[in-house]
Amino acid sequence: MLAAGVALLWWLDPAQMPLPLCGLHALTGLYCPGCGATRATHALLHGHLMEALHDNALWVLSLPLALYAGLSEWRWQTAGRPLWGDPSHRPSLIAIVGAAALLFSVLRNVPVYPLVLLAPPG
Ligand SMILES: [Zn+2]
Repeated sequence: MLAAGVALLWWLDPAQMPLPLCGLHALTGLYCPGCGATRATHALLHGHLMEALHDNALWVLSLPLALYAGLSEWRWQTAGRPLWGDPSHRPSLIAIVGAAALLFSVLRNVPVYPLVLLAPPG
């Protein structure tokens, strides 16, 4: 299913598609931490790192962590132990990721240079 989603994002350019708008952005004009993530993923799949960072830097920078978490969870489920670390630390990790997302949300909505670069284009 993940591979199908990645393949679809490789083929289809979200900037050219009539995708549903983010609910928060549609209602308030504010950017949530996920705004631009679809376009960023499409840009990454085509090797355009700088474009992807401009679309959603938090998403791009957190992908290695998400990949690691997915692999660690898979190993935990199949072999009974994670790749690294203590699974009891998950609540702390979730809190850190949530705090980073909240901070990113606030910063990307501040209309001051250079913070405006965190907002997705157009
Ligand atoms: Zn959004």
